[in-house]
Amino acid sequence: MSCLSQSLCDYDHQFQEPLGRVQEAESLALMVIAVWAVVRLIAVRLLEEGLSVRARRPTSWPECASCGRRLQSKGFRQRVLCTLFGKIRWQRRVGRCSNGCAGSQVAPLDEALGLVAHQPNGSQVQWMGCLLAVFMPSETAGAVLRQLTGVELAPGTLWRWVQQVGRRAMVQLEADLQALAVGALPELEPLAAELEALPRVVGADGVMVPFRPQPGTAKGKTCWREVKVAILARLGERLTRRGKHVSRLYQRRLVAVLGSIDELGPRLGLEAVRQHVQTAVRVVWLSDGGKGFWTVFQRCFKASGATAILDFYHAAQNLYKGAGAWLDGRTRACRQRLADWPHRLRHGHEQHLLAELATLLEGKPLPQAARESLTKLYNYLKAHEDHIHYEPFKAGGLPIGSGLVESACKWLIQQRFKGVGMRWSEPGFNHLLHLRLAWVNQRFDSLFPQMLPSPN
Ligand SMILES: [Zn+2]
Repeated sequence: MSCLSQSLCDYDHQFQEPLGRVQEAESLALMVIAVWAVVRLIAVRLLEEGLSVRARRPTSWPECASCGRRLQSKGFRQRVLCTLFGKIRWQRRVGRCSNGCAGSQVAPLDEALGLVAHQPNGSQVQWMGCLLAVFMPSETAGAVLRQLTGVELAPGTLWRWVQQVGRRAMVQLEADLQALAVGALPELEPLAAELEALPRVVGADGVMVPFRPQPGTAKGKTCWREVKVAILARLGERLTRRGKHVSRLYQRRLVAVLGSIDELGPRLGLEAVRQHVQTAVRVVWLSDGGKGFWTVFQRCFKASGATAILDFYHAAQNLYKGAGAWLDGRTRACRQRLADWPHRLRHGHEQHLLAELATLLEGKPLPQAARESLTKLYNYLKAHEDHIHYEPFKAGGLPIGSGLVESACKWLIQQRFKGVGMRWSEPGFNHLLHLRLAWVNQRFDSLFPQMLPSPN
């Protein structure tokens, strides 16, 4: 037996059996798995040892909250806690009021360690469980957690944690929104110097999510509701292997709300402040034709001189659609001219296009359906007159499609909330959404204050 194995066996005969399995393992893979058990045992011992040392230090007893008398030690009692390495047990002093006041029992070491009474699992277990649940259904997450750590959670525990921590995230967001409403700015997020000069991209989109029609029951027809999602990012580019420059988003941050467009605005505003929108060299808004989202642009970004771009593919689609009715039964030459519209829109002739549409509408009488659809098209393009300068946008290195915005938005929702047979309750969806947002926005750990070093 090697020196380390021997010392471990000498230290505690409990190491003998797992170390024996390391020696007997036939393959390297089995060896690693066997060593994993040894490592966990060592970790448990290290924790128990460290806690015992702390538990033996002198305790300063507080006064009884009811009668003011100093609490007295009642000796050492065992505490058990489930950690990422397995169950740990240690003895620590418990004290009580000698007047027998109800609820006076305390364990000062537990408090100093950040444990609450009867807490069965360490906060790292909660942290890892919630992290897994961000990506997979909570039952699967529980199984993966067991596989990774050996920790077995009671049924429903993981989902309860998601609810708890998600609620914490929502309360925090609500407080930040209220503070911003009265002028208290949130803390700015650090921004790498090389990103400062890059334009800021902002965009928004809606994604449908399946909900249960009634709370508390799985019965009834699925009810689809729109979740509004917005993205803020720095727009840079990267070189592909073939030497092509393509757009890439940096410092991507998402906001989302199951609610109205009026609720999206303030959330986006809050995130924009965090992401230095005031000092951004240039702000670019990207979106497709959804009216509500353009209201957000007008309210939040237009005044500060942001450049807004209507998704080119959306505009082109509308050109085809609008022309379709008018085209019906026309000559080939005429069809060709219309097929050319998107091309002209893309290459700097948007004003000619608008003029042509206006002439068509003013010219000889049109069938009712054709007139309606052409009028609609004209109004749509006219409303977005400033947002369709695709030639200069493209020349200036800006994207003309909102695909990169839409895909980020869809990803936030699609990957976790639209699995086979999934249907959500409103609170359940919201709690998990806010956990997922925290993870995407790199703020997940801040939801577990026990795991962060104290600021001083
Ligand atoms: Zn008392």
